[in-house]
Amino acid sequence: MADALVLFSGGQDSTTCLALALERFDRVETIGFDYRQRHRVELDQRPEILKKIVAIKSRWEGRLGKDHLLDLGILGQISATGMTREVAIATDASGLPNTFVPGRNLLFLTFAAAIAYRRGLRHIVGGMCETDFSGYPDCRDDTVKAMQVALNLGMEKNFLLETPLMWLDKAQTWRLAEQLGGPALIELIVEETHTCYLGERGRRHDWGYGCGECPACQLRLRGWRNYRGL
Ligand code: ZN
Repeated sequence: MADALVLFSGGQDSTTCLALALERFDRVETIGFDYRQRHRVELDQRPEILKKIVAIKSRWEGRLGKDHLLDLGILGQISATGMTREVAIATDASGLPNTFVPGRNLLFLTFAAAIAYRRGLRHIVGGMCETDFSGYPDCRDDTVKAMQVALNLGMEKNFLLETPLMWLDKAQTWRLAEQLGGPALIELIVEETHTCYLGERGRRHDWGYGCGECPACQLRLRGWRNYRGL
């Protein structure tokens, strides 16, 4: 039986990865992390999405198993970034956005592997993406491949780290979601997933909720427009 653990944050990318995993694997578990992000909107959306996504296809329902929410408060304590503090989102001297949380994906993958080890899961699926990306070095294909080697050596395992969105742009990610779950999945992603760095959920746009101005909203908005041919 093929199985997978999906890094599921409650955002657009990880929800698309979850749909892909439900399509491909017989048994799927999810993992999310509370690292004291400056808003909890994504985390609050996770159970809603998990509840609703299985209603899209009957065979997805039997495949979705346990959800793991890990407390990584220590990461919020040691980080001084635009994701974990109330500071303006900007680019720092090195050219990296200050929304980059050093070590975040490295820790996420390590903790995911530890859970996968315990739960006997082989595939670890993440929404890291090098196309259209925000300049985060821990989203690079080489970073993830290096982590796979390190985790397999360090845990004496044969995990496969899968990043199905790595070479897709945001419009292609919307298209992939449409292929996987049709209009119902598009509707779920628009309505329930959260992307905005500021945690804004007051304004509903055709691409979903958000401030519309922050880099995450801008990326989602551009991807939506390209996907819809606007
Ligand atoms: Zn925003």
